[in-house]
Amino acid sequence: MTEERFFRDEQNIAFWEGVARNELRLKKCSVCGVVLAPGATFCSECWSSELTEMKASGYGKVHSFVVYHRAFSENETPPYGVALIALEEGPRIVSAVTGGVTAHVGDDVEAVWSVAPTEGPTLSFSVVNEAGWKRED
Ligand SMILES: [Zn+2]
Repeated sequence: MTEERFFRDEQNIAFWEGVARNELRLKKCSVCGVVLAPGATFCSECWSSELTEMKASGYGKVHSFVVYHRAFSENETPPYGVALIALEEGPRIVSAVTGGVTAHVGDDVEAVWSVAPTEGPTLSFSVVNEAGWKRED
């Protein structure tokens, strides 16, 4: 039985259905064309509620990054990275980053789909091209 850790409602169900098909689904304003985050209910630019679904590239850049030292669920083993990803299409989303605590601001990332033992299909990001600098810890 799959535990419902992630909240699903009519605004983000297309996103989760996309994750199950290895797709990153976003919303797009039918009036002005702005691409919006998966859970958007109206356009942040023109306030229209005429939104359509679109398939995103799955590529982005790490905008910000934190390290969790406590597990959010039994599927994670701390420490692990969670990043604010600036997607190629514009919106930013929060996601786990595979590979532990190795991501840095500016790293290029791509979407990675997997099936978590107790949660079903899930999405995370993997670093594909490191930024040209590293912070000394
Ligand atoms: Zn709009």
